[in-house]
Amino acid sequence: MTSQREQSLGVAPNGSVAAASVFDRAISLIYGPVQSRRFGRSLGINLLPAGLRLCTFDCRYCQCGGRPARRRSSSEPPFPTLEALEQALAGALTADPSVDDICFAGAGEPTLHPRFREAVILARALRSRLAPRASVTILSNGVAVAKSDVRAALALADRAVLKLDAARDDLLRDLNCGPRGLSVGRLIHSYAGMIGIETQTLLVRGAVENATPDALDALGEALRLIHPRRAQIGTITRAPAPARTGPAVLPLSPAALQAAVARLRRAAPGVDIGAY
Ligand code: SF4
Repeated sequence: MTSQREQSLGVAPNGSVAAASVFDRAISLIYGPVQSRRFGRSLGINLLPAGLRLCTFDCRYCQCGGRPARRRSSSEPPFPTLEALEQALAGALTADPSVDDICFAGAGEPTLHPRFREAVILARALRSRLAPRASVTILSNGVAVAKSDVRAALALADRAVLKLDAARDDLLRDLNCGPRGLSVGRLIHSYAGMIGIETQTLLVRGAVENATPDALDALGEALRLIHPRRAQIGTITRAPAPARTGPAVLPLSPAALQAAVARLRRAAPGVDIGAY
């Protein structure tokens, strides 16, 4: 999942975005560490089948490389095994035990892995043994949080960061292109029932606008109800993957981003809301 997959590349004052990143191509089971503005030196885990961008969303700003798909077909490569994860992660942490963070993100939605909870338990165990300073983070689009096993896995992380780009169904449809039947009401209700989560929001302008006053006020009301431990508000920092077609969404200027954060803080007093 991406907004999340930021590196230390900023948005220029003119609103232009960096064009190249590690995510422009298919990524391996373990990648990085990448320099994250939020998590420090973050070692990434990609639990999705090789070469595939597997996700229940199809966000207009998605930066992931790989062939997009909503579900894996039998002709696609398999999900990585836990044995492969153990070997690759142990090797990476042994080589670089000073990483700040181990992050489940990758080319798509990590909770789609059929043994996701076990993968998180494995990462925690390797972290404790090989990189005790590192946090374990999960970045998720939140579509599967109604499932008990996914909630259990998220609860095991030091940091579970769930996407909430908008609190209006039309924006969820037009920006995130989620599965049929998903509603912001359902997402907000699920998030509000979880303890200690963080949310992340990517604000954009252009073909879809989720930083209008109305959209921000609705989002602020949702954040007030959810009351996440922290709400992270960002904008696009890198160009969408080359395969992404259709009308473009663009980054907010730094001033517009700060103004949006200020409006959200007024709408959701008491919630820790910050720009990243
Ligand atoms: S489609 Fe959206 S949720 Fe899925 S990986 Fe891309 S940015 Fe993340």
